[in-house]
Amino acid sequence: MQNLTVLVLEDEPFQRLVTVTALEKVLPGRVLQAADGHEAIAVLSACDAVDIVLCDLKMAGMDGLAFLRHASSSGKIGAVVLCSELDPVLRQATVAMIHCLGLTFLGDLGKPFKLEGFSQLVKCYREQCSATPRRLSPAELPTLSDVRQGLDNGEFEAYYQPKVTLAGQLLVGAEVLARWTHPQWGVLSPAHFLPVMEEHNLISRLFWQLFEQGLGLQQRLSAQGHEINLAFNLSPAQLDCGVLTERITLLLKRSQVPATSVMFEITESCLMSAPARSLESLVRLRMLGCGLAMDDFGAGYSSLDRLSELPFSQIKLDRAFVRKMQSQPKSAAIITCSVALAKALGISLVIEGVETVEQQVRLIELGGTLAQGYLFARPMPESHFIDFCAQRAGRGRS
Ligand code: C2E
Ligand code: CA
Ligand code: CA
Repeated sequence: MQNLTVLVLEDEPFQRLVTVTALEKVLPGRVLQAADGHEAIAVLSACDAVDIVLCDLKMAGMDGLAFLRHASSSGKIGAVVLCSELDPVLRQATVAMIHCLGLTFLGDLGKPFKLEGFSQLVKCYREQCSATPRRLSPAELPTLSDVRQGLDNGEFEAYYQPKVTLAGQLLVGAEVLARWTHPQWGVLSPAHFLPVMEEHNLISRLFWQLFEQGLGLQQRLSAQGHEINLAFNLSPAQLDCGVLTERITLLLKRSQVPATSVMFEITESCLMSAPARSLESLVRLRMLGCGLAMDDFGAGYSSLDRLSELPFSQIKLDRAFVRKMQSQPKSAAIITCSVALAKALGISLVIEGVETVEQQVRLIELGGTLAQGYLFARPMPESHFIDFCAQRAGRGRS
């Protein structure tokens, strides 16, 4: 088993001793400790990285909240586990803050520390690590010339994440997500390269590479008897460009993939300030026969206006609502309303970020029909996706 480094942040000496001793007995790896936020920052800066911070919140001196805020930009924290007796409502708000800081929240153990619960979370952490692209520290972030070289060398790869029916898990399509298979760093997620690409107008080079890979896959799957709908993400800058729809038309014709098998996802926030030409591109894509999804619905400003004006064929409900569903009754109400809204508009609703069976069951109760999430499948490379389609088809026949 691979070694882990755990940092225990706990001000109460006896609690800390019990926790550290219990962890040292079972954990392969290092157990670090700190009595307040300042000490934890010093420990963190003296080591390469910490896999899990086991974090109490209330303490004298720099408390857990301030520590997380200070430490979040270090890029050295793999995940956070809360271990606090604070009121549950405040702990929920802390979880929201952890997400906002860009940290990975692993679980809330409450107090006193329970080794069994922690071991379960370690198991989840290991599963996440093996399935998630590597996180680089800020010092390692790729530069503009790294990204250019990656594009020249064709190192960017389309990964595919299935969209399925919530009840029967039937495959209804897949979203194309960019991954960079870097010769030195391994597989990197978009967070590591999209900002540089967007800043330096390289996003459309990425798009055309992924679009051609996706169309190639659709041709191969079609030859095997599977017609799969693929959804490609578009950035705002691409929409404000006259050649986009012309080139898409040309490539669809060349590959003989029907336009109805292709969808484009646009985040709602990018539409708020979209110029007329972007709106024209959207209309043209629909005229061509392609689908149009409003992505991350509910995450930004309210975009009901745009939804009613523009020819969307799908809404993708932001995954924040599913995450908060259990703890915030209001999230469930928003999901129910989104289901009703999509129905009234005659378009489909895909619920993003479904990770557990409990969420799946609840979403079915709330009227959801389509979903995407780690529970069903993570984004996967082309060869795995071809196997996935073949398995699904086999299941359908049996
Ligand atoms: P998105 O379009 O909202 O894509 C869904 C993201 O949620 C993906 O992250 C996916 O891996 C992740 N995800 C899926 N299911 C779950 C789940 O159950 N739980 C959790 N926690 N996450 C889940 P990814 O691949 O890191 O992409 C992040 C964002 O980067 C995407 O968000 C999209 O906005 C952007 N992106 C990815 N590929 C491209 C691309 O080719 N072009 C453009 N313009 N943007 C892209
Ligand atoms: Ca998307
Ligand atoms: Ca989304």
